[in-house]
Amino acid sequence: MLCSASQFKGVDILLTSPWPKYVGSFGNSSGEVDTKKCGSSLVSSLVTSLKPRYHFAALEKTYYERLPYRNHIVLQETAQHATRFIALANVGNPEKKKYLYAFSIVPMKLMNAADLVKQPPDVTENPYRKTEKEAFTGKQIPTPEEESACQFFFDLDGKHGKKRSSTGRDSKSSPHTKQPCKLPWPPGPCWFCLASPEVEKHLVVNIGTHCYLALAKGGLCDDHVLILPIGHYQSVVELSAEVVEEVGKYKATLRQFFKNRGKRCVLFERNYKSHHLQLQVIPVPLNCCSTDDIKDAFITQAQEQQIELLEIPEHSDIKQIAQPGAAYFYVELDTGEKLFHRIKKHFPLQFGREVLASEAILNIPDKSDWRQCQISKEEEETLALRFRKDFEPFDFSLDD
Ligand SMILES: [Zn+2]
Repeated sequence: MLCSASQFKGVDILLTSPWPKYVGSFGNSSGEVDTKKCGSSLVSSLVTSLKPRYHFAALEKTYYERLPYRNHIVLQETAQHATRFIALANVGNPEKKKYLYAFSIVPMKLMNAADLVKQPPDVTENPYRKTEKEAFTGKQIPTPEEESACQFFFDLDGKHGKKRSSTGRDSKSSPHTKQPCKLPWPPGPCWFCLASPEVEKHLVVNIGTHCYLALAKGGLCDDHVLILPIGHYQSVVELSAEVVEEVGKYKATLRQFFKNRGKRCVLFERNYKSHHLQLQVIPVPLNCCSTDDIKDAFITQAQEQQIELLEIPEHSDIKQIAQPGAAYFYVELDTGEKLFHRIKKHFPLQFGREVLASEAILNIPDKSDWRQCQISKEEEETLALRFRKDFEPFDFSLDD
């Protein structure tokens, strides 16, 4: 087969009617299209073999530009070019969703290898790569019924050569009418996927390869930041090894950064009623209280609210403790010690903030609700600018 020939690198452009199934995995949110249900697995396999640099599809009638993804496994395979998937809406749609895409491209045969395989900063994992479990159970292999659900056919027998879609969305009288594919969760666009139009770009203070830093909206203090993955991940449990590694790098760098400014940082994550992983990093002045004071404050206030906060071994991974999809809260102290709570039914959303804002730590109880701490966009811009400048000497993304 052509694609398996050793000199075959890929194709420049691929156009398909259906979306490839799973295209949204590891990427920014695909809006209301659930790519685990919609689209064609056959197209996914085709794309995996063809490795297009640009892949356009249309059938879901909406615009979606996925973050570029890799065609190789980092450190295991030689680097290859990335693929950009762009879905466009139907021409002249009343919602004015994007249906035209202009771009320029140098054909890969005219490019030198180094330029071709250069990875864009926001590149993500390959969405079609099977996990070991799926490869084992064959979960991604479509059943014929599943496959026909989102395929598109030209009705060659029809008098006017009219198009029909087996999803029934082109023809109301179709007997095969199915509900449009909807994402069960998250229900809408994401505020934290870096490529999402909803992201408040002015709060972004540093961008790495897999993660970025942003000032917290309504932060507890001026330098309260969030470590966020660039692509869509719900919690640290779901992160791939390379993203975990960069999260670690950011944590260590921020610790150093704040230490230089006479502060220690407290970090927490709440994987409950949130869509996109947010690691909250809050600096606490060294002269304000010790790490043990902070730890005691968390334990005491958890007990008061009947929250079971367990101390977990310093170097243990949340991945080893929480099952994927399980709700949890944990706080990490500047010594690396962690306190973990498995959320069963209810959890006070502001808990981490409340403890830090309490008299025992920062003593700013009126700031425990972020909504009370909102400032104007201009003020946010000023704070972000200041943080960016201060952080620059610590910026490891500038090292190479
Ligand atoms: Zn997201």
